[in-house]
Amino acid sequence: MINKERLIKSFMELVATDNPSYGERAICDFITARLRSLGITPYEDDTASKIGGSAGNLYAYVEGTLDLPPILLSAHMDTVEPSCGKRAVIHDDGRITSDGKTALGADDLSGVAAILEALTVIKSPDFNIKHRPIEVLFDSAEEVYCDGIRNFDFSMLKSKEAYVFDLSESVGYAANEAPAIISFKADFTGRAAHAAFTPDEGIHAIKTAAAAVSQIKCGHVDNTTVNIGTIAGGSADNIIPERCTVTGEVRSFNSADAEMRLCEIEAVFRSAAADFSCKLDFSSKTLCDAYYVDPGHPVAQRFYKACDSIGIKATICRTHGGSDNNHFVRHGINGLVVATGMRGCHSSREYINSDDLALTSELVSSLILSEV
Ligand SMILES: [Zn+2]
Repeated sequence: MINKERLIKSFMELVATDNPSYGERAICDFITARLRSLGITPYEDDTASKIGGSAGNLYAYVEGTLDLPPILLSAHMDTVEPSCGKRAVIHDDGRITSDGKTALGADDLSGVAAILEALTVIKSPDFNIKHRPIEVLFDSAEEVYCDGIRNFDFSMLKSKEAYVFDLSESVGYAANEAPAIISFKADFTGRAAHAAFTPDEGIHAIKTAAAAVSQIKCGHVDNTTVNIGTIAGGSADNIIPERCTVTGEVRSFNSADAEMRLCEIEAVFRSAAADFSCKLDFSSKTLCDAYYVDPGHPVAQRFYKACDSIGIKATICRTHGGSDNNHFVRHGINGLVVATGMRGCHSSREYINSDDLALTSELVSSLILSEV
């Protein structure tokens, strides 16, 4: 029932719409108009004013004609940079890419387009399809550590199960587990002094930071991953550097383990600061909590059945990235992050195959029509 031609046209229009994080106004208006044309009245929350963006989170409830619990379908509206002036190019083999100058934005416009097409079919008077109630949520600023959805009023949601179409994998994959992500920042303050006239009067902030960094294990550390991502400091070659800032992150599928690793890292920074008589200001921010959804849960069982009904193999997997689903699960909604077939995301090499786009939309419909 999916109309592939209409789906691709809609995807290309979405791609051609500028949608930077905090600048999703145009794409939010596009989705709003599409929903209204289907007789669905969306509600945009006041997140835009809270995060300094141009669009909030766009939510809609679609009444069902079957007495089944609702499910939530979600995709984010923003695209990583470069997100403006995008143009989708369809190649002979069915691949859709950008023109090479920007991201394509299949992350996550493939999810948006697939959901809109499925709703178009479900609401079409031609088919008179009986379906469960559906909630849809298109959020803003997801690429900036889910800044949009963080501000959403989750008490609005009636669904206890969610499908977030935002995984870069083959269609049929869905993630039921994601890590806690904690970022940290160590600010060292030493003492500036002339490097040649009075070097003994200085306290070297860069050497202090370097001593700490050299003792911090990076990569896989037991069941966490650790990275030192940036280091910046100093002001001139003839000055003992007074300031140095180091930033990094810790991830783990177990939130407590991530916290424990963070404590160890902080202790290393503190010890180096003490050794060099440097002042240390250490801070951290939990960007998302880890979650695990049991593959036996109905949200996963429905996914298996929906894949089966459209003739594809279902695979439940882990993801190492955060997504809106971390926030759904934290608010008591069991969700899966579902693959749309998008590839090479967060680069100008990003692409999606038009068959995968159609298959994703079929999967959306199949989840809506499932009687589980
Ligand atoms: Zn995404």
